[in-house]
Amino acid sequence: LLRVEDLQKSYGDETVLRGISFDLDKRDVEVIIGPSGSGKSTMLRCVNRLTEFQGGAIYLDGESVMAMNDNDLRRRVGMVFQDINLFAHLTALQNVTLGLRKVRGMGKEAAREKAMDQLDRVGLASQADSYPAELSGGQKQRVGIARALAMDPELLLFDEPTSALDPELVGEVLEVMRDLAEGGMTMLVVTHEMGFARRAASSLMFLDEGRIVERGPPEQLFDDPEHDRTAEFLQRLT
Ligand code: ATP
Ligand code: MG
Repeated sequence: LLRVEDLQKSYGDETVLRGISFDLDKRDVEVIIGPSGSGKSTMLRCVNRLTEFQGGAIYLDGESVMAMNDNDLRRRVGMVFQDINLFAHLTALQNVTLGLRKVRGMGKEAAREKAMDQLDRVGLASQADSYPAELSGGQKQRVGIARALAMDPELLLFDEPTSALDPELVGEVLEVMRDLAEGGMTMLVVTHEMGFARRAASSLMFLDEGRIVERGPPEQLFDDPEHDRTAEFLQRLT
């Protein structure tokens, strides 16, 4: 479903990604870990073309993301950020409906119905008419997930979706993500939540200084890592 081929990216003369290659099949859940500055966010931003890259290629279902039009890419690749960027003047329901109307051109009633289904999926149907200020951080993040899901994306990107949350709110967001993983959603997830990685990831990738140091099933990286650096990093996380 996703092929990243020798991806290279620099900001000015600072090289951030030094040849990243990997494939994701449908239903794969890839968890990405690595030190601050290793290029995790940059890699996600290349996949949905929030930023340009200098070398290599990224294909979604065989189609280069560089050649896709904006609306197609926005629809096919959803993203959930650390900072929950809901519109403050819109209700939860309106936040989810917006993209359906604008990007997918759906009619008002159909969009509303679809948005309600997505809110229900993340356990927030009863909060549909609440404004972001009336929601907890965990609820806001779940609205963000509902908004991404509403597009029927082929691939969902998560960049530290729980890092900005109070500890007691992390669980409800991870639970939604676990449900999605079990439901067969293809996901690329940057997170420090190693419980999630162990339970939900089909593969774990350790990035350092813009390179993939090691990649494999989570049990392998946790229990029998090939590289000392992987072991050291995981020890600090768990
Ligand atoms: P963190 O764990 O702190 O989120 P990360 O692995 O996501 O780190 P990136 O945000 O991808 O790391 O950053 C990788 C490198 O690229 C860093 O050295 C950072 O300073 C640099 N960088 C990121 N965004 C920009 C930008 N817009 N302009 C210039 N340099 C940038
Ligand atoms: Mg980051």
